[in-house]
Amino acid sequence: MSDLHNLSVKALASLLQTKEVSAVEVATRFLARTGGNPHNAFLDIDSEVTLAQARASDAKLADGTAGPLEGVPVAHKDVFVTRDFATTAGSKILSGYRSPFDATVVQRLRTAGMVSLGKLNCDEFAMGSANENSAYGPVQNPWDTARVPGGSSGGSAAAVAAGLAPAATGTDTGGSIRQPASFCGITGIKPTYGRASRYGMIAYASSLDQAGPMARSAEDCALLLRAMCGGDIDRDSTSLDMPTEDFVASLNSSIEGLRIGIPQEFFGEGLAPDVRAAVDSALREYEKLGAKLVPIRLPRTELSIPVYYIIAPAEASSNLSRFDGVKFGHRAKDYTDLVDMYKKTRAEGFGNEVKRRIMTGAYVLSHGYYDAYYLQAQKIRRMIADDFQNAFKQCDVIAGPVAPTVAWKFGDNANDPVADYLADIFTLPASLAGLPGMSVPAGFGAGNMPVGLQLIGNYFKEAQLLNAAHRLQQATDFHLQKPAGV
Ligand code: GLN
Repeated sequence: MSDLHNLSVKALASLLQTKEVSAVEVATRFLARTGGNPHNAFLDIDSEVTLAQARASDAKLADGTAGPLEGVPVAHKDVFVTRDFATTAGSKILSGYRSPFDATVVQRLRTAGMVSLGKLNCDEFAMGSANENSAYGPVQNPWDTARVPGGSSGGSAAAVAAGLAPAATGTDTGGSIRQPASFCGITGIKPTYGRASRYGMIAYASSLDQAGPMARSAEDCALLLRAMCGGDIDRDSTSLDMPTEDFVASLNSSIEGLRIGIPQEFFGEGLAPDVRAAVDSALREYEKLGAKLVPIRLPRTELSIPVYYIIAPAEASSNLSRFDGVKFGHRAKDYTDLVDMYKKTRAEGFGNEVKRRIMTGAYVLSHGYYDAYYLQAQKIRRMIADDFQNAFKQCDVIAGPVAPTVAWKFGDNANDPVADYLADIFTLPASLAGLPGMSVPAGFGAGNMPVGLQLIGNYFKEAQLLNAAHRLQQATDFHLQKPAGV
């Protein structure tokens, strides 16, 4: 079987269960593909670890104790801590760091049988929209290596698009699963805040961070999400104390009469015509499938940029205070006293964007500015969430673009952080509200680059979202397109 790397998670799982292939064969094939680290997608690969997991999976397949995804490879964003691979979060400050435990999500996917191929490149501490903020160099977009893969889960998106892994984990604080999925032509879902445990996910902005799967199809995402979710209340008090759902069983439901809300604010000025055309054609597909398009308003969409870029840095400035050279990773070599050690360690270890956000965050939280910035942002955040609840009185799901443009070229925004921030406009609202959101391939735009359709659901409606995405994927083949040479 020469095209193992192009098979879906579902197909691989079934070949493994029927023993048409072994986990070691599958792992070996993927390790051959990740050798030389194409697109700079990986930060750590260890074939011995991967093969040992594959051998253990083969033993389980042989003795009838296999999990549902036994032997299927996965790779993890480097924000999830892992015992068997290094974890850096894309930062120099954690170079060489090894966690004594696995993140809950990593552990659950292993329990379901998945074999880890290693750790994936990302923006430093998940701060970015282009993967240009990784301390270990940017990831290339497999569709056009002169372009960014999106961020911050850029390694995850590129690895799946390039056939280096059938699926990957990602994290999404303000769009980091959806936007790279869109830029690389794959499918990704950020579940409702609290669905997946954040235990062992290196914190960026704790009230926003969520883990989710990235794969070629909605069906594959459903298979991973089912295994990832579920309460973990003793270890993450913000995880929802409820069992996971069978997101797979509800696929193939009819979407006849599904009311799809179209927010006027997502289709205005700033949306590139090529992206708009692809999104419009996906919406027409939905109409053919029996869905109804309903115009809605999300009037505070624009405010989500300042609100997010106050709240996320505020939380980051607190979360990142733990990286001080005492317990984790890098420590400066020469220093005079403790404070000097902190200062030098952090100055050497953090990149520019991380420093910028720590400073912004400390400022908006500081005495005298707290009320004007942080408190005000929190109030507007609540209004943004209320706007969604108003909208959901008229519709079942909301659809629009994931990003205003297709993936841009390296360097285009590199010296202009605000340009990157503005490109997050369509993913931030659902993040601030804690709602589930997806990116689904919807065609191609300028430069033959992929365009993603965003679907946003109400709280806990992942099953409905995945089903809506799955129905579209049965009617179209955008998710089956591959970059040249894959
Ligand atoms: N681009 C956004 C940021 O830079 C979102 C990142 C994310 O979701 N982790 O913060």
